[in-house]
Amino acid sequence: MSMIPSECPKCGRRYLPARRFCVSCSLVETRPTALRPTGTLLNTSMLHRAGKDIVTPLPSLIAMVRESGDGATFWAPVEGNLPLAPGAPVGFHTRTWALPEGGEFEAIVVRPREIAQ
Ligand SMILES: [Zn+2]
Repeated sequence: MSMIPSECPKCGRRYLPARRFCVSCSLVETRPTALRPTGTLLNTSMLHRAGKDIVTPLPSLIAMVRESGDGATFWAPVEGNLPLAPGAPVGFHTRTWALPEGGEFEAIVVRPREIAQ
C-alpha cells in the first residue's frame, strides 16, 4: 500500500491508499498529500492468515483508523498488538521490516497516542 494519501482539491476528501478519482465529487485529478501524524481508532480485527506479502508476525492486530480532521480512513497494523478501544487517539508512524529474501518493506503502523510522541 502506498503510504502517501491523496486529497481532492475540490471537496477536500482524503484517500489512503491514494486515488486519482474522487468518489465524493467525481473530480478526476486528486493530488498527493502528507499523512497527518494522528487520528482516531474506529475498529480492530485480528489477522490470522495473510498472503506472502505480509511480513508482520501472525496473529497480528490491525486497526481501521481515521486521520485527524475527518481525514483518510484506512487499515494499518497495531504496533505490539496493544489493545485499543474504538475512539482511542492514535499516532501513525512508519516501520521498516527486513524481508527474508533481502531488501526491506516499509508500512504505516498505529500506536496509542500516549506513547506515540
Ligand atoms: Zn472531491
